[in-house]
Amino acid sequence: MTTNALLTNGTIQLLHTAFPDLSRNDIESLVQAARVRTFPAGFDIFQEGDKGDSLFLLEEGQVDIVVHADDNQEILVDTLGPTRYFGEMAFLGETSRMATIRTQTECRIIEIGEADFMAIARTNPSLLRTLMRQIIGHIRRTDRAVINELNNKNDALQAAYADLEAQEALRSQVIVTLSHELRTPLTSIRGYLGLINQGAMSGNSLKMALDSITRNVEKIIGHTNDLLLLYEMHPKSSDFEYVNVPDILIEALNTARATMEAETTRVTMDIAPDVPEIFADRRGLVLATRALLENAFKYSPDKTPVAIRAYRENGMGVAIAIEDQGIGIAEADVERIFDPFYRMEKEGAAQLFPGLGVGLTIAKFVVERHHGRITVSSTPGVGSTFTIILPHRVA
Ligand code: ADP
Repeated sequence: MTTNALLTNGTIQLLHTAFPDLSRNDIESLVQAARVRTFPAGFDIFQEGDKGDSLFLLEEGQVDIVVHADDNQEILVDTLGPTRYFGEMAFLGETSRMATIRTQTECRIIEIGEADFMAIARTNPSLLRTLMRQIIGHIRRTDRAVINELNNKNDALQAAYADLEAQEALRSQVIVTLSHELRTPLTSIRGYLGLINQGAMSGNSLKMALDSITRNVEKIIGHTNDLLLLYEMHPKSSDFEYVNVPDILIEALNTARATMEAETTRVTMDIAPDVPEIFADRRGLVLATRALLENAFKYSPDKTPVAIRAYRENGMGVAIAIEDQGIGIAEADVERIFDPFYRMEKEGAAQLFPGLGVGLTIAKFVVERHHGRITVSSTPGVGSTFTIILPHRVA
């Protein structure tokens, strides 16, 4: 910052432009009292709260007027260019600086002390009026900037509140769904255990009871695993390896058939001979394809056949398609079925198809970790095809 730059004719012209009511004599007196200073860009000429009693007239460059909100956040009130002045509020109100003035660019500024300025202002009521107008303008702009900022904060708060409400609704739904999903198998287990304890079961019926208990325990473990997986979801690539697509599909199919009691449903598996091995998270892919298969079985109440296909997609990657002839999905729901806990069957309705609503969320998460995508084409009453497309190799 330099303070010894010379006053020029331009300075006299500038004072005239800024204070048109002043006589030539008064302007000359101001020129005597003035000193020219230059400031680099990004410099606070003064800060809110500073003591200070001089007025600054901008000859070259631009400055920002900044005030601080309660949380110390800066609010930009105005930007001033040449011929505009600032700093007059402090000496009229005898208060400290009410804003920070920060140079946007290098600035050449004329500084005039309070005593010199007021000596001239005292004999020039029109100059005082000009000053008052400027002060009122500054106050108005500050008010407007602060109100805008408050409005913005209010909008952000409202959005956060709506988000919280949605989360709260989801939480209640999860609790209802989860308790239902756990209570049903637990009630069945308790029933069978009671009968076994009373010695009422033997031979074949004992075997059936134990099978049912096992299946229900598996269901509970499956839900718990789904939930844990959902909360564990975070990207990591350390367990990627080259995997064989048919192996994945067979493992997923066996698990899905067992958990969904779909051993008798006809399943065809058609894997094109040119499907390559893929670099993938094996466990994740089994979970994703298993979730799709479980849905295909679950949402095909008439036990209609399910087809699994794997083929090369555009030579770039591998597609795995799982096609059912089940109830299908209404167009309005397609967008949302991948959302966590989203279910087409609403809570409270008699549940035809049990589930937590997390299978597709997990599948999508896994597929996206592979930089792949998952698509669905479906017609209500005709059936659905879910297709996972994976790039051949992810670096
Ligand atoms: P869940 O099956 O536990 O409800 P998902 O996340 O796997 O959870 O699926 C979300 C919703 O998408 C399901 O509730 C169901 O309405 C719909 N859906 C998923 N797969 C199918 C399918 N193959 N056929 C019809 N509807 C499906």
